[in-house]
Amino acid sequence: MSTVSEAGVVSAVNKELFIGGKWAPAAGSATFDVHDPATGEVLCAVADASPQDGLAALEAATAAQADWAAFAPRERGEILRRAYEKLMARQEELGLLMTLEMGKPLAEAKGEIAYAAEFFRWFAEEAVRIDGGYAVAPNGSGRFLVTNQPVGPCLLITPWNFPMAMGTRKIGPAVAAGCTMVIKPAAQTPLSMLALAGILAEAGLPDGVLNVVTTTQAGGVMEPMIRDGRARKLSFTGSTGVGRTLLEQCAGTVMRTSMELGGNAPFVVFEDADLDAAVEGAMQAKMRNIGEACTAANRFYVHSSVADEFSRKLTERMQGLPIGRGTEDGVVVGPLIDSAAIEKVSSLVGDAAQRGATVLTGGATVDGPGNFYQPTVLKGVPREARMSTEEIFGPVAPISTFETEDEALAVANDTEYGLVGYIYTENLSRALRVSERLETGMVGLNQGVVSNPAAPFGGVKQSGLGREGGTVGIDEFLETKYIAVGGL
Ligand code: NAP
Repeated sequence: MSTVSEAGVVSAVNKELFIGGKWAPAAGSATFDVHDPATGEVLCAVADASPQDGLAALEAATAAQADWAAFAPRERGEILRRAYEKLMARQEELGLLMTLEMGKPLAEAKGEIAYAAEFFRWFAEEAVRIDGGYAVAPNGSGRFLVTNQPVGPCLLITPWNFPMAMGTRKIGPAVAAGCTMVIKPAAQTPLSMLALAGILAEAGLPDGVLNVVTTTQAGGVMEPMIRDGRARKLSFTGSTGVGRTLLEQCAGTVMRTSMELGGNAPFVVFEDADLDAAVEGAMQAKMRNIGEACTAANRFYVHSSVADEFSRKLTERMQGLPIGRGTEDGVVVGPLIDSAAIEKVSSLVGDAAQRGATVLTGGATVDGPGNFYQPTVLKGVPREARMSTEEIFGPVAPISTFETEDEALAVANDTEYGLVGYIYTENLSRALRVSERLETGMVGLNQGVVSNPAAPFGGVKQSGLGREGGTVGIDEFLETKYIAVGGL
């Protein structure tokens, strides 16, 4: 059990909109309820922004842009560094808050606070490394000056599955680059972002640089801001379907975009793999965040000669996992986010079973309140099963077999998604060959977790555009300007 109280962490959060450095109710004082997915109970109500509130937030971001861009890079970095320290100092309470609104076990929630804070530490360091160039023109008579400037006011949209880290992954580089922003967290998990806004204000972020709108009308509030013309960048993390809609809207003002979208990660185990390491990696790649991660292993392809042993070992590990409310000691499998998620996972498992897959463990919901689904392993999952092409977003591991490396690559790449793929092999040549041929933005090579603030995170194909984190993460928030210098 935690040493901080549940009621205490919820009541400590300001539940209003954060616009221009001030907390204010939504127009008409509208609110909506936030629920605990483990119990279905209401945790609290937060402000429900209208389209007018959204435009007021954009106005505040636009008004603050010029002064903020002129801030010393070192000072922008110091604000992020102070916010990093504050996040870590409050890791316990912020972790509990996240568990309450999202459901993930407390240990994972605290892990996410550390991961989220690390983006601030990383981009605190990057803020002072924005460089430029000076060059002699090829004809020798002119000079090229190249500088990098903030793109301008940004619109940021984040999902519910990593309520803090998906925010800091965007806010960190935006602050470092000198951009102002309006951020809209997911309606199911607004509390972490509201808490973060308070922390950034305490860390000295000037009024108007970060504005937070919580709303149940995601499209109704965001579309007028996108079409308005004053925002110059949209950074979105969420589903591929919503990403496509936003790209169409952004075309109207030719707005720059970063898109971190859905995944359908293959997890390939070759006959020469260290099987125990592969099972360990599989548990991480599948069960981190209760399987509700864009990076979650969605399809396991195992060489036929080791498939039985891998399936048995994975089943043993999955069977023993404690299920329950994320606040309880020892719980590893928390609830899914809502009843729609339960219905989706149940329907995908039912479809696979109907098409001939065998359920080795799990395969059902858990009786009682909350949105719980049993850790599940399926073998003999055919290519036609819906879960081969759709994100499962739950604790379900479908296993299929393959015979050759080419076959493994063909099935692994047979998807519209291209976020991450996992490979387990002890053969170096094969490891590098398959890594290069996987159509993904990231590869976990004998490793079940790839996320790291110091590394470039992102996908190819319909998993997205652009990268977050690493040395390239700040580039998404900078425009290159070239000044042609004559008269020399
Ligand atoms: P989602 O339904 O696409 O929602 C994501 C965000 O977009 C939420 O804040 C949502 O608001 C908002 N939104 C929904 N419709 C919108 C619209 N028409 N206009 C503007 N904003 C809109 O996705 P989700 O179910 O929350 O998140 C899961 C998805 O995110 C999965 O596909 C997962 O793979 C992906 N994801 C990707 C990454 C990555 O880095 N590639 C990381 C994490 C998650 P409301 O919640 O208020 O509706």
